[in-house]
Amino acid sequence: MKKFIVLLFIALPFWTCQKQTNEILEELPHVLVIGIDGLGGHGIELANHIPNFNYLMENGAYSLKVTTVLPSVSAPTWSTIFTGTTPERHSVGGNDWRLETRKIDPVTTNEYNYFPTLFGEIRAKYPNAVLGAVYHWGTIGDLIEGDACDFSVNGDNEISTTLQACKIIEEKKPNFTFVHLDHQDGAGHSKGYRSEEYVASVERTDSIVGLYIDALKKANLFEKTTIFIVSDHGGVNTGHGGYHADEMIVPLIVFGKGIKQGYQIEPPIFTYDIAPTIETIFNITPNEWVVGRSLDIFSE
Ligand SMILES: [Zn+2]
Repeated sequence: MKKFIVLLFIALPFWTCQKQTNEILEELPHVLVIGIDGLGGHGIELANHIPNFNYLMENGAYSLKVTTVLPSVSAPTWSTIFTGTTPERHSVGGNDWRLETRKIDPVTTNEYNYFPTLFGEIRAKYPNAVLGAVYHWGTIGDLIEGDACDFSVNGDNEISTTLQACKIIEEKKPNFTFVHLDHQDGAGHSKGYRSEEYVASVERTDSIVGLYIDALKKANLFEKTTIFIVSDHGGVNTGHGGYHADEMIVPLIVFGKGIKQGYQIEPPIFTYDIAPTIETIFNITPNEWVVGRSLDIFSE
């Protein structure tokens, strides 16, 4: 008996600590952001067979008229989605941007020497959160605070990216996951951003979104998760970077826990509104250099 009591005293602090950690994690939200590179709002309008997109729009909040930032180039526009601010503030002006060689400094930096992205902000507030990114385009890994992430994985293509991300969702049950898919932009660059191949690629993207929904259901996270479908830019002819509407206007679909259903979000909406909206879910106050606003999409 004495031995048992001694053991209990040794074990109790560990048990209590473990319990508290779990409680904090259980209270944390789950957000999955599926980033589809090069998907213009017109892509969804042109596509016919998109059952997953339709389901998420009919049962969530959405707009096909969200304005991205200039230049309509991947690294600057993804950084705007990650930070909630504009390129001249976060400093990512082109796809050649790297932390060590950046040409201008961000207006503010965090402990990782980045303008704070969602990854750095969520880590700063929740040391125990599980968060990270899986990306088809390797440069995404340079744009985020890798040291703040539990996982930062570069997939070979949209399928290997998705399989790796789904495995992480099922095994780690992350609180914040960003996934980047590049095949949609590839179809635009090779055949044109209004081509048959581009539209077929939207339908392929839709079926890939279905794989993420399946993974969330398998992980018992579907009811607990807020899903964001976002895009960095569209394209015109076989390129992007300018300010044609097909380049600048992108979709946003938000579905799941705490989100209005069948709700069309009133424009103007900008891609820099995405980060502050996600920060609302995590109860984080955006820093003073964020230009976006939290969107009115919450049901509770
Ligand atoms: Zn892009």
